[in-house]
Amino acid sequence: MAAYERSINAFIRAKRVIPGGVSSPVRAFKAVGGSPLFVRSAQGATFLDLDGREYIDYVMSWGPLILGHAPSAVVRAIQTSAARGTSYGMPTELESELAELVVSMVPSVERVRFVSSGTEATMAALRLARGFTGRAKVVKFAGCYHGHADAFLISAGSGALTNGVPDSPGVTKGTADDTIVVAYNDLAAVEAAFAVPENKGKIAAIVVEPYAGNMGLVLPKPGFLAGLREIATREGALLIFDEVMTGFRVARGGVQEREGILPDLTTLGKIIGGGLPVGAFGGRGEIMAQLSPEGPVYQAGTLSGNPLAMTAGIATLRSLNEELYADLDRLAARLVEGLAHVFTRYRVKHQVARAGSMVGFFFTDVPVVDLATAKTSDVSLYARFFHQMLARGVYFAPSQFEAGFLSAAHTEAHVEATLAAAEGAMDELMVEAAR
Ligand SMILES: *Cc1c(COP(=O)(O)O)cnc(C)c1O
Repeated sequence: MAAYERSINAFIRAKRVIPGGVSSPVRAFKAVGGSPLFVRSAQGATFLDLDGREYIDYVMSWGPLILGHAPSAVVRAIQTSAARGTSYGMPTELESELAELVVSMVPSVERVRFVSSGTEATMAALRLARGFTGRAKVVKFAGCYHGHADAFLISAGSGALTNGVPDSPGVTKGTADDTIVVAYNDLAAVEAAFAVPENKGKIAAIVVEPYAGNMGLVLPKPGFLAGLREIATREGALLIFDEVMTGFRVARGGVQEREGILPDLTTLGKIIGGGLPVGAFGGRGEIMAQLSPEGPVYQAGTLSGNPLAMTAGIATLRSLNEELYADLDRLAARLVEGLAHVFTRYRVKHQVARAGSMVGFFFTDVPVVDLATAKTSDVSLYARFFHQMLARGVYFAPSQFEAGFLSAAHTEAHVEATLAAAEGAMDELMVEAAR
């Protein structure tokens, strides 16, 4: 306990004035128990907590930090930009520069609008899809997270093929009526949703995390994404790839580049801001032309296109080259294979998944293809493993249902140290279990 004393005290202080002591729920460690670490500073692949302990970080701010913490190119760019003013509420050429980079990198994006978070991006993309098609309903997948806008905080109810149910108090039934929730990787369920008479000609869009990273890492089965593309086209609905997590992460052009499947709209966030608050949505020119002030679909933001944030995004995207992705791929493969090896040696049932530098593991012998199978994981074992790793200076996500991330600052030495820690953690858990 004493080792975490300052973080524990900081959490007590925070809880008095901030609900749950955090600015975003998963940070509070509720899924693994214990008190969250408070950060003093971070550099490269590691951070220091308030008590001065150093950790190898596999959360990396939940995805944005593909270059690691405080990369010098990004920090310098932000410093230079800050001295010129931090916000104008007027256009700058920085926005066009970042937009040109996005258009050049993401295959389906012809034009793009900047916002300040992934949530805003998905919320606005859905409004645009509704405005463009003149339809109200949206199909989403259980376990896919698209930020906290009302339309997406919906679960499958009993009549799931026609409407969902609110997943949070404060989300109205009216909103839930327009969201249809089906299982990830289940093309037949998507077909069925479109086939229900009540939905005929009423579904504006299918929205999907093309590689799902918010129920742990769950990859699409062969043909799933192509099937969605086909159904959307046939039915006159738009296909929205939510690449807030996967964009610039699994390849320069995201999942759509890797899989060669083009959505109508794409939402971006996380890496695009290089650690500052940026989101974006973009897609086919004729759809984007419907956005205000060019078209009638309203969308706005006082700090949208913020110069500091644009600068951080530009510096980050300019650093992404094929060599970096090849290095990340190699290192992430070593981590995932190494972990699987350790779990096998200790006879712990497990599944591992990886897409580039996105990694995931579940403690189950059931192949994980959707939320229901992800939930077969032994979350109590995950919690114990998490705390054993933390005690050994390795920070995995404080929940089973999150992806892990490597960065350009992670080295073989970090990965080998992590695998050694995993051995130690499993040893300790076996001793505990035998007691
Ligand atoms: C993180 C995330 C969001 C939400 O982005 P915020 O910036 O947290 O609002 C939306 N979609 C996906 C796929 C995400 O991973």
